[in-house]
Amino acid sequence: MLLTGARVIAGDQVLAPGWVRVSGNRVVEVGEGESPTTGEAVVDLAGAWLAPGFVDIHVHGGAGASYPSGDPGEARRVAGLHLRHGTTTTLASLVTARPEQLLDAVTGLAELVADGTLAGLHLEGPFLAETRCGAHDPALVRPPDRQELAGLLRAGNGSIQQVTLAPELPGALDMIRQLTDAGVVAAAGHTDATYEQGRAAFDAGTTVVTHLFNGMRPVHHREPGLATAALEDDRVTVELINDGRHLHHAVVRSAFAHVAASRVALVTDAMAAAGAGDGEYELGGQRVLVADGVARLAGGSSIAGSTLTMDEAVRRTVAEAGVSVVDAVSAASATPARVLGLDGVGVIAAGAQADLVVLDDDLVVRRVLRGGGWVDLDREDHSAR
Ligand SMILES: [Zn+2]
Repeated sequence: MLLTGARVIAGDQVLAPGWVRVSGNRVVEVGEGESPTTGEAVVDLAGAWLAPGFVDIHVHGGAGASYPSGDPGEARRVAGLHLRHGTTTTLASLVTARPEQLLDAVTGLAELVADGTLAGLHLEGPFLAETRCGAHDPALVRPPDRQELAGLLRAGNGSIQQVTLAPELPGALDMIRQLTDAGVVAAAGHTDATYEQGRAAFDAGTTVVTHLFNGMRPVHHREPGLATAALEDDRVTVELINDGRHLHHAVVRSAFAHVAASRVALVTDAMAAAGAGDGEYELGGQRVLVADGVARLAGGSSIAGSTLTMDEAVRRTVAEAGVSVVDAVSAASATPARVLGLDGVGVIAAGAQADLVVLDDDLVVRRVLRGGGWVDLDREDHSAR
């Protein structure tokens, strides 16, 4: 199949007009100008953007369903909703829960990692700071426990790709090394870490900061905090939840200006209400009320995840923060893929996975290709691949 007449986002270049040849589940050739004709099926994209499929390393739910339930059917609904919004590679993010609940969820979701629906699991918690726990149950966050983590990694059988923990807790630096030794991305989040504690976390092997600025000390001119330590450290990628609520657009703009798109991973941090509307939901055993698309813990003010999808994150990054389309798309694809060490994902290049998103001038998703097959954007319940 030959996709022609597109504005192809290939790395930091735009090929306009550009063409992409797909064979099976792979991109086999990418070029600019007139496309070669070889008698295969041709899809004329009529000037639309052709971007790599989006990669979301932090998402809890959507379509009324949630990953922390550990239920494979629910998880397929979540992945399907986000797939229809362009996310072709996703982690499933769990939240703080009792040890046996976490084990059950990891075991339940591992099969979806094995069948390719999910790229892996992300444990957000339970080793988080009580003072910065946000929507995580403060009664269940706990200090790092090597044994518990070892049990979860065993249950996941290679499916756990990322763990968010608070690096200032006792035993955290040791756990960061335990994670990196196991090939798992160590992320710092829901943390009260100071600037110095942040630097120590990065020296120990932490490579991601979970939703930068949210769930951590604010930047102060005498105590710059982990956020500042992250921005100035080239080894670190920062997640941003750009839903227009978690961060002011000027903060998003300054983050991109400071670290470049190669170190920003847009994430949705979406919960069950994404794509499902306002109402009452549950996240990690806590009641969450969603009004005007904003999710808050019942009886409190803590924001409890977002109702964002990745296409909207990209649109807001361009329209509100003034970031270029190429950089916004990179932050939604190439950068998070690199965080996970995924080769041939998040890029449009010969040999890459044929995961592509067609976006119109307003960056609205028009078509999604995953593993070389078109996704039915109208179908509610989509089982991927
Ligand atoms: Zn969080």
